[in-house]
This record gives sequence, structure tokens and C-alpha cells, in this order.
Amino acid sequence: MADVVHSSIETISLAEARAGVVEGRLSAAALAEEHYKRIAAVDPEIHSFLALTRGRAMAQAEKVDAAVKAGDAVGALAGVPVGIKDVLTVKGVVTTAGSKILEGYRPPYDATVVRKLEAAGAVVLGKLNCDEFAMGSSNENSAYGPVKNPRALDRVPGGSSGGSAAAVAAGLCVASLGTDTGGSIRQPAAFCGVVGVLPTYGRVSRYGLIAFASSLDRVGPFARSVEDAAVMLEVLAGPDEMDATSSHAAVGGYAAETKKGVEGLRIGVPEEYFGEGLNAEIRAAIEKALDGLRAAGCSIHKVSLPHTKYAVPTYYVIATAEASSNLSRFDGVRFGLRSEDAGTLAAMFRNTRDEGFGAEVKRRILLGTYVLSAGYYDAYYRKAQQVRALLTRDFVQAFEKVDAIVAPVTPTAAFKLGEKTDDPLQMYLEDIYSVAASLAGICGMSVPCGKTADGLPIGVQVLGKHFDEATMLRVGAAVEGLGNRD
Ligand code: GLN
Repeated sequence: MADVVHSSIETISLAEARAGVVEGRLSAAALAEEHYKRIAAVDPEIHSFLALTRGRAMAQAEKVDAAVKAGDAVGALAGVPVGIKDVLTVKGVVTTAGSKILEGYRPPYDATVVRKLEAAGAVVLGKLNCDEFAMGSSNENSAYGPVKNPRALDRVPGGSSGGSAAAVAAGLCVASLGTDTGGSIRQPAAFCGVVGVLPTYGRVSRYGLIAFASSLDRVGPFARSVEDAAVMLEVLAGPDEMDATSSHAAVGGYAAETKKGVEGLRIGVPEEYFGEGLNAEIRAAIEKALDGLRAAGCSIHKVSLPHTKYAVPTYYVIATAEASSNLSRFDGVRFGLRSEDAGTLAAMFRNTRDEGFGAEVKRRILLGTYVLSAGYYDAYYRKAQQVRALLTRDFVQAFEKVDAIVAPVTPTAAFKLGEKTDDPLQMYLEDIYSVAASLAGICGMSVPCGKTADGLPIGVQVLGKHFDEATMLRVGAAVEGLGNRD
């Protein structure tokens, strides 16, 4: 690993990469090759990629280089090497969602987000490791083995988009796509010391995303700076006729927003997010970030989100209910794995699902089926939907008084591999600061804001109003500008 760690590939920004390609100083093909070299050198240890798409990447890179040579217009991501979480479909490329049940599955179409990235000139290097069907907070639920945190190899990168965060942190791609259902972009971004953006529900198309919980699933970018993430979001955002839940709300000039500054903005600090259980170093880092925002001209206000304590149980009822329904399509008939032991139709269903799904996925299918069952629907699922409305109202009311909210992303920094695998409840509690925003549908992001004494990255969460990514990104850029990254 040592000889490549200091190469500039590791830290090149999206703007630098694109400018190099557009101005002819760098070829997109050479940039892709350099990244593949680094992947070959570094990723056997990190294990962030599940598949490389070299043929497709080189064809795209050559197309971009030819366009530059010919003087044709090129897109906002011309030549930028990216990675795609393996829950998003890429036509003809094995797409597993981190599950054995989709081993060898080659989807016949591209996810809209993949199509948009490539239309803007991005070069897709490959598919990134993740927790099985995006269920998890440590990437240890992947059927293909865990990912290591590039900042501390004995630690988890977070999950479920662990590969997407680790690949960007390790300099294996300039930006990546992840998905966030209950924290899976923000938490791994915090653990790996990169920027992760959760767009408002409906802002980015879910067409081609293998569903976990459809009312919560969202696609968003990882990058090494807020500006880079903003450029990615600008490309990804917008309505899609293939996703009826995608919104027609106007898309902003997000990269330009990051340069606007934050003077006069009102920042809310929710008391419920700073109680018992929050690690002292994380608390101190966030307080320092708040001091910085105050110095930059923001006013800081206490706000209350009184239903916060119900967020984790509400999330685990709704997410598992939707998962149990979504995952019923994996039956050995249409996609991926079919059990050898399939003497009867019933045996084929049963054995395929038994062999194909991992323990955490089975646990959630059981839980989700239970909360939807006739006798318990009212007590659990309906109740959870009611609480979801209250959690959403908490945010809407808070945003009447403030422009953005600042909070922790996680109660602790990255934990050790294996530390929580025996205790699913402990693992679920990881999501304590992330799931409320998921249930409410608002936008959020994680920005690096310091390190623990052990050198582990700390992230701060910035939450914004529905469809107000612009203000959220301004605050994120201001926090980043405070220079507390190291
Ligand atoms: N950790 C949460 C879970 O396991 C969130 C996952 C996600 O956002 N995909 O459900």
C-alpha cells in the first residue's frame, strides 16, 4: 500500500479531475487507469469493490477524451472516475445488493442515476460493497465479506454504504453513489471522514435501486468535499418519469450555493440529540463547529424535536414491514440464485430463500411480516405510521424557526470489526441520530469536523428543510471551511 498512498490520485478533487480532462492536461483514460492501478494495490486490503467494469469504463473514458479533442461540449463530470453501490443496477454488470440470493444477476437496464452520471461524462469504475440489501450499520452483513475502514483497518467503515464511503476515503474513486434508508450515507461518511449527502425524498430517482424500504430509500453522493458532493447532486437531482415519487421541485445550482457563505442563517441545535450516550469527543467537535458557525455570522438556537426517542423503534417497524414486502420477489424464479434442492415449487421457494438470504435479512423479513400481520397491524405498523407523522411535524415546526439543524451523525466514532455483530439491538442503536430525518423525508448530510484522540474521523450532521439542499450545503461548506478535519 505504501508506495501509492501519497499519490495525488488519493486526494484529487472532482473539479481538478474534470478541469484536467477538459483542458487536455489529463486524459480520462489515463485517470481511469491510475485509479484501477490504485484499486489493484489497495483494495485487496479494503475490499470496497465487488466488481470492476473496466471495459465499460475505458470505452466511456475514450469517448470523453475524443469529445475533448474534437472540441465538443462535455458534461459536468467529464472523465471523473466514480463507483456505484451494488444496490443500483448497471446494465449487464453483476449486481448483487450484497446478497447471495442475487449472485450472478445481470440487470437488463441502468438505474436512472447511473445513466445520468454517464451522460454527464462520469467513468463508472465498478460496483461497491454494501450490507446485504442495505441492511446494516457496519458493512458486516455483506454476503461477500466486510469492508475495512481505510482510516483504521481494524474498524468498520460504517454501513450500509460502507464500500461507497471507503472507496472515496481511500482514493479509489473521486466520488461514489450510496443509498440511505436510515443513515446509510451519513453514517459511513462520518466513519470514513468523507462528505455524504442524503437528498430530500423524491429529489433523486430511485429507478434501478433494488428496494429495501421504498418510502425511505434514497440515493445520494459521497465525495471528498462539500463542493464535489454538490456537483454530483446537481447531476443526480430532478424528476424521472420512471419513478412516480420523484419530484418536479426546481433543482438548484448547488455547487454555486457552497460559495455563498452563511451570514445571517439561523442554526437549530436539537437538545434531544445531545443527551446521554453521545461520546464526549464527538460532542466537543460539534460544539466547536457551532462556535465556528457563530463566528461566521450564524445565530444558534435551541430547538426541540420531542418525538426523537421514538425514532428508532418507528424506523425498525416501517423499514422491516416494507422490506418483508419488497423482498418477497426473490423466490428463485426470476432473479439470481435458485436452490439445487427444488423438488417441488414450495421447496424451491423455501430453500432458495433459506440459502440465499443472510441472518439479518431473515430477521427483518420475520419482524416485518409480524408487524404487518392481521392481529398486530394496528398495534405496530399503523402506530408507527402515526408516530412517523409526529416526527415529521417536529422537523417542520423546528424549521419555522431555523434554516438548518446541526446534530451528531453517530453516538461514537467507527467501532471495531466484530464488536457489535453478536448484538443486533446494539447495532440498531447506531442509527439513533439518523433515522428521524429518514422518516421525515428531509435532506441531510455528514461533513467531517474533526478527529478523536485515536485519530478516528468525526462527522457532523447538517439537516435541511424538504427540498432545501441549497441552504444545507451552504452550512456544510461553512463547517468544512472551519478546517477541523484533522
Ligand atoms: N442502519 C440502518 C439499517 O440497518 C440503515 C440502513 C440504511 O440506511 N440502508 O436499517
